[in-house]
Amino acid sequence: MKKHFTCIMCPIGCEIDVEIENGEVISIKGNKCIQGEKFVRQEVKSPMRVLTTTVRIENGEYAMLPVRTDRPIPKSLLFKAMEEISKIKVKAPVRMYQIIAKDILQTGANLVATRSMKKK
Ligand code: SF4
Repeated sequence: MKKHFTCIMCPIGCEIDVEIENGEVISIKGNKCIQGEKFVRQEVKSPMRVLTTTVRIENGEYAMLPVRTDRPIPKSLLFKAMEEISKIKVKAPVRMYQIIAKDILQTGANLVATRSMKKK
């Protein structure tokens, strides 16, 4: 089976062609570096993504606080994670990289603030 991927590990976005047999990667073409190979192998095994979103914040300069997971989580869990995150409401002030929620869906990834926010 042949599959095509666009590498998301850096802004170059290499177009990578992969041949897979019995779930095993047998050839990879088009990547400019080893990161592309790692990305494709992970995509074939179990796609992972960093989740970037916002949570509600009480008494902050803005109504929403930008957040992301501190490591990629399985792509299959993104929707469920968004449901959990939509229930979160934090209180200002918040500092950048502060942990907002620990171990999202037992993935080992924490949700962290991607900016500081003062009280209004
Ligand atoms: S293969 Fe390497 S150079 Fe190409 S997009 Fe991925 S990380 Fe960037």
